[in-house]
Amino acid sequence: MSSYVERVYEHVVEKNESQPEFHQAVKEVLESLIPVFEKEPRFEKYKILERITEPERVIMFRVPWVNDNGDIQVNRGFRVQFNSAIGPYKGGLRFHPSVNLGIIKFLGFEQIFKNSLTGIAMGGGKGGSDFDPKGKSDNEVMRFCQSLMTELFRYVGGRIDVPAGDIGVGAREIGYLYGQWKKITQSYEPVLTGKSLEFGGSLIRPEATGYGSVYFALEMLKANNEEIKGKTCLVSGKGNVAQYTTEKCIELGAKVVTLSDSGGFIYDPEGITKEKLDYVFELENVRRGRIKEYAEEYGVDFYPGERPWKIKADIAFPSATQNEIDGKVAKILVDNGIIAVSEGANMPSTAEAIDIFHENKIMFGPGKAGNAGGVATSGLEMAQNFSFTSWNRNTVDKKLHDIMINIHKTAYNAAKDYGETGNYVLGANIAGFKKVANAMILQGHW
Ligand code: NDP
Repeated sequence: MSSYVERVYEHVVEKNESQPEFHQAVKEVLESLIPVFEKEPRFEKYKILERITEPERVIMFRVPWVNDNGDIQVNRGFRVQFNSAIGPYKGGLRFHPSVNLGIIKFLGFEQIFKNSLTGIAMGGGKGGSDFDPKGKSDNEVMRFCQSLMTELFRYVGGRIDVPAGDIGVGAREIGYLYGQWKKITQSYEPVLTGKSLEFGGSLIRPEATGYGSVYFALEMLKANNEEIKGKTCLVSGKGNVAQYTTEKCIELGAKVVTLSDSGGFIYDPEGITKEKLDYVFELENVRRGRIKEYAEEYGVDFYPGERPWKIKADIAFPSATQNEIDGKVAKILVDNGIIAVSEGANMPSTAEAIDIFHENKIMFGPGKAGNAGGVATSGLEMAQNFSFTSWNRNTVDKKLHDIMINIHKTAYNAAKDYGETGNYVLGANIAGFKKVANAMILQGHW
């Protein structure tokens, strides 16, 4: 590590105790930026790292709500407004029992560079709660969302901070949150994205993260004279990102053989067909069931408590949660002949895993590039809302595809400029960072 990066990283660890995921994300970004500081000392002079690793604002609040038995429940809500140098704070809300300040800060920090990479004017933020929507009735989820927004509304707005979905927050939750925001403010503006089509949602937003992750993989493959058609793919998760990653892979002639949730994974050697995927949509989005039921329905194997990575395949799309692939697992993937990994989830691979992919010349698309299609299409949703219009499916899909091609090109060229062609981690971090850092310098010391 350079002395500047080392100093800042040590300070971050010291000042943010018990936030290992945040430390991990900061370390990954800062280490890859070392060549930038060697070439451009002004970033150190302006104390950009000291400033960019400290959120502009952290909001933490009580979320009381009443369950169906009439008992009062109390959860904790978070919104981290990390950086607004290039646009309003933008980033999802995550509802999951594992949520804590460190996880929200890691996600918000990553979001700064991801949003910058999209080329759209969006700053970085993230929020959520340790609320667990699993097993809750619609009414309980609604009361929780209303309570959360009763506090959060003070801090968000279409030109201030625009939350969206993430783990545990889909169209249902966004609808309840938006309804409460509108009731309090009597206003119309794109304060949330991922809305339903009836009240300002964008076509292709539900599909965007998964489709985008596949579009990014296509570009990596193309750069290496490979194609996706005929390839066997591993997908983890069974939620929003996993579903649409699978859909796009099937459409492009690839075979997806796995899906998972926190209970385990299914292995369907024949491949998940369009019909079987319709079953998953219904299972996850309507019945809110478990992936184990897929194995029972189609007579395939279910591996309880395991993740899909031991299955032999060509391409992996980790699309569930952080730290799903450590060094040991990365080694298994490499030994099994994987050629590419495109991250749909945020930080699913540990630093050790990424090193193994790079050492073995595996095409590796980090989440901040691979899954940026979601937030980019949220940006497109905001653009449509601000101009009171809506674009058709093909228009949005074409824009998404172009954005992903451009993100690939930007990351590829940045890595090439620094003599590391094919290192998308380096390329994405450098390109995302420089725009934000330059904007911070141009706007003075704040
Ligand atoms: P969903 O809630 O729709 O699905 C999440 C899936 O991951 C579920 O199958 C869930 O299983 C599984 N999962 C969650 N936590 C764990 C865990 N600790 N261990 C094992 N499995 C787990 O979320 P999304 O699909 O929206 O998000 C998935 C990933 O993609 C996240 O990392 C998110 O940050 C990232 N992402 C999402 C974007 C979006 O537009 N939705 C945009 C950019 C990134 P179970 O049901 O058992 O909990």
